[in-house]
Parts: sequence; C-alpha cells; structure tokens
Amino acid sequence: MCLGCGRRAPKRDLARYVAVPEGGGMVLTRDHGASMPGRGLYTCRSGACFQRATERRGFARGARGPVVVDAALAGEFGDGEAVSGA
Ligand SMILES: [Zn+2]
Repeated sequence: MCLGCGRRAPKRDLARYVAVPEGGGMVLTRDHGASMPGRGLYTCRSGACFQRATERRGFARGARGPVVVDAALAGEFGDGEAVSGA
C-alpha cells in the first residue's frame, strides 16, 4: 500500500524503502532491488506520493519511529504522476 495516497498495488509496482539505522537514528533509504532486510515502506513511483507520505509522517508510522527523510529521494521519480496502471 502506498503511504502517500493509500492506493493498494502489487509491491513490485511500488517503490520500496527501508529505514536504516544511521548515526543513532533511522534514515529512509530507497531499496531499488527490493533486497534490503527490514520492514518495507512503500509509495507509488511518484514524487507527489513520496512527498505526501513524508508530510503525513507515513514513513515514521510505517517504521514505528522517527525517520529522517532526504527530500532528494522524491527527485528520483522526475515528474512523478506518470504511473502506469494507476
Ligand atoms: Zn500513492
């Protein structure tokens, strides 16, 4: 499920993130290969959904604790919104 818009979709259609321990806190990291251990956090492959998930503290909720979110992660989607099969 996308933490931004709540859309349900197969995990392979979503972008996966994992909260990784770093410097005494947790840092959100994009898991490109869906291979990282830990609880997966998902959003649509859309900058808008990523942003919304951040604003709604969806990542922190999903990770069950504070997570540092690098806004640059949203840039990976370019214009976003162009999600096939949405
Ligand atoms: Zn979404």
